[in-house]
Formats: sequence, C-alpha cells, structure tokens
Amino acid sequence: MASPIAHSFAGFWTFLAARGRFKTRLTAHWRQYLPPLGVLILLANAPDLDLFLGNALHRGFTHSLTVAVVISVALSCIWRIAPGFWRSAILYFTAYSSHLLIDFFTGTKIGWTNTGFGMPLFWPWHKTFSSPLILIFGIHHKNFAALFSLDNVWACTYETLTFGAITVVGFVLWKRKLKSRILGKPKLKSRTKRPISEAPTHLLSNL
Ligand SMILES: [Zn+2]
Repeated sequence: MASPIAHSFAGFWTFLAARGRFKTRLTAHWRQYLPPLGVLILLANAPDLDLFLGNALHRGFTHSLTVAVVISVALSCIWRIAPGFWRSAILYFTAYSSHLLIDFFTGTKIGWTNTGFGMPLFWPWHKTFSSPLILIFGIHHKNFAALFSLDNVWACTYETLTFGAITVVGFVLWKRKLKSRILGKPKLKSRTKRPISEAPTHLLSNL
C-alpha cells in the first residue's frame, strides 16, 4: 500500500478536476467546498480501512472495482456532491478508484520489478492484479515499529515530493491556461466593438 499522503493528493486532484461542476468560484467561496473536498479525500483513502480488520485481510475486497461501484452509487443516493445522480456517482467512483490505481503501481522496488502486492480488482473473482512497472514504494505496516521505520519515512518523503511536484506543475499549467483565456477576451471584445465605434465616425463624415 502507498501511504495516505499519495491517496490524499489523489482525492484533492479529483476535487480540482470536478471544479467546473461547482456553480461558484472556489477561491471566493472556499469554505463551502471543504465538506466535498473532505469526503473525496476520505474516499481516496477508504479502501485501506480494511487494515482495521487485520493485516491478513488487507488488500481484499475493499481494493476492488466492484466495491468502488457499490459505494459510489450508495453515496450518490445519500448526497449529491455534484449536480445530478450519475455525475455525483462518477465523482465518488473517481476518488475511490484513484486508490486502486495508485496501489496498482505500488511495490517494494521502483522500476520494471514486478514487485506489486496484487489486488482482487474484479472481486468476488479472487485473481489479483498489479503492474509490472512499480512507481511508488509500499509502506511497511506489519506492526507499530514497522510503521515508523526509516523505509516508511523515505517512502512518505518520496510521495510528498513527487505528488507535490505534479500538483505544482498542474497549477502552473492551469494558471497559464487561465491567463491565455483572459488575454484572449479583450481581442474578441474589440472585434465586436469595432463596428459600433467605427459607425458614428462614418455616419458623421457622411453628414
Ligand atoms: Zn490500499
């Protein structure tokens, strides 16, 4: 499993990707977006709640697309996080399955090492799946001491740096896109205004 750092970043990204679904500006009304942001981050971490059932049951049915669909539809019945039932369900599904995607690329050694842990993605079918390409270090969680091992400190630092860097790059690209949109608007305005501003001078000269 990856740490909650990577999964929380994925929940945050899901929230940002859905920002177009919200009616008001995020920066102006950020307080009202805290509950949906919190729910999406919780959902992105939810599959690892099976750790409370014991290490033997970890990466079981909660790490499956089947449970992702069931939870998304059930949550959408309770709370529409976006306008519409299916839009909400898709948003919940994206947050939950982001966990599966990250765990899919998690293993003990980075690279084409095939050291993934495997998940029963199509549970109740018990066949497990993991990527041969490993991009994220797995967290040791056999006991309390293992949780605070140096390997885990390194894994958390690695996740913070890589996922943080992806977030910063995403923000920069998004700001550039916004800037180019804002700079593009006056050109359109001036084009539409041209006939109006030119009209009186033509009329005056004709008079
Ligand atoms: Zn997991």
